[in-house]
Amino acid sequence: MKTDVLVVGGGIVGCAIAERLARDGVAVCLVERDTLGGAATAASMGHLVVLDDDPEELSLSAYSCARWSAFAGALPAAAEYRRIGTLWIARNDAELAEAERKRERLASAGIASEPVSAAQLRLLEPALTPTLAGGLHVPGDAVVYPPVAATWFAQRAAAAGAQIRCGVGVAAIGDRDVLLADGSRIAARDIVVANGCAAPELLAGVPVRKRKGHLLVTTRAQPGVRHQLVELGYMQSAHGTNTESVAFNVQPRPTGQLLLGSTRQFDDHATDVTPRLLQRLIARATEFLPGLAQMTALRAWTGFRPTTPDHRPLIGAWPLRPGVWLACGHEGLGVTTALGTADLLAAQLLGTSLPFDARPYAPSRFVATSEVSHAH
Ligand SMILES: Cc1cc2nc3c(=O)[nH]c(=O)nc-3n(C[C@H](O)[C@H](O)[C@H](O)COP(=O)(O)OP(=O)(O)OC[C@H]3O[C@@H](n4cnc5c(N)ncnc54)[C@H](O)[C@@H]3O)c2cc1C
Repeated sequence: MKTDVLVVGGGIVGCAIAERLARDGVAVCLVERDTLGGAATAASMGHLVVLDDDPEELSLSAYSCARWSAFAGALPAAAEYRRIGTLWIARNDAELAEAERKRERLASAGIASEPVSAAQLRLLEPALTPTLAGGLHVPGDAVVYPPVAATWFAQRAAAAGAQIRCGVGVAAIGDRDVLLADGSRIAARDIVVANGCAAPELLAGVPVRKRKGHLLVTTRAQPGVRHQLVELGYMQSAHGTNTESVAFNVQPRPTGQLLLGSTRQFDDHATDVTPRLLQRLIARATEFLPGLAQMTALRAWTGFRPTTPDHRPLIGAWPLRPGVWLACGHEGLGVTTALGTADLLAAQLLGTSLPFDARPYAPSRFVATSEVSHAH
């Protein structure tokens, strides 16, 4: 079999890329070894959020959120896209000052947000503990149900002519072809490696490392939470290099359930829930939402974020293998940034104009020039 572009991995990133390329008339084959929208995509919270920890994260996430918004009317109801906004919560004056700096950074990318006083916070979210200092409201942020969204992108790709093959993995990448686990081969001019945490299994040297996360969902209740609530200290937890961290992050589900996040752990590759960390997650959330103490936890699970050494995804050509492209390493923001990734990768692959500067995400930043000349 033969195709123009073979996409490895049917998570949100691979599905969005397949859709983007198929829509441009490219012959695409997506190969998923398990199920579409599983792995990290299924484990995630689906918060579509503009993050501004550095200018590169800001431009990729702002662009991507705008793309999600453009798809909003077309997404099926089951994708549960809702523009509920984010409320960043400050506990004290220092965090309020950080909220103001965040407002300025977001404004520099054209993202509207409003400062929230302590009194306004109590009106917006009465279930929060009354001692908080205020925060920042970002009304344009949204949430989505990631497995359904991923599947929908794959279905759109198929409708535009893409082949979607599930249940067989790529065992190895050859010279302009791949070997599947069933022994068959698919020839492809370009191969896009979009298999999240598993990228190093196919390409030695790709610097992606797993970072475990726990989430918990409550039973249905009337918790009265309206926005995605995130503590301002969250970014410290997300981008810190601590082996273990916990930050308050809560999402109201359309069912009336609350989705509680999140923990971050390096060096634990077991899928099991760790009761001690779950306890920390619940304790942290209850500090902000005391009413949680009366709610029932229904289910908890774990997932793995594909992290990179500088916390930026790898989007672009892999210099050690001609015709091989990377779209992986999206850490805890890959549902959001899948759409920007798809546009950026498609533009590089097709040689069309780039939607934004590709250099900060180039995989070549982790490859020494000597390695490249040795490989060619
Ligand atoms: C607890 C948690 C909460 C999160 N919350 C959010 C959030 O609120 N907002 C947000 O934007 N992001 C969030 N994320 C991050 C987000 O889930 C990931 O960045 C994103 O899902 C990565 O998508 P992906 O397609 O690269 O990888 P994955 O979803 O992991 O998909 C990779 C796919 O590749 C397949 N695969 C692997 N190897 C092969 C092979 N050899 N051949 C064929 N197929 C293969 C796998 O089966 C899998 O389906 C969260 C992550 C976690 C763990």
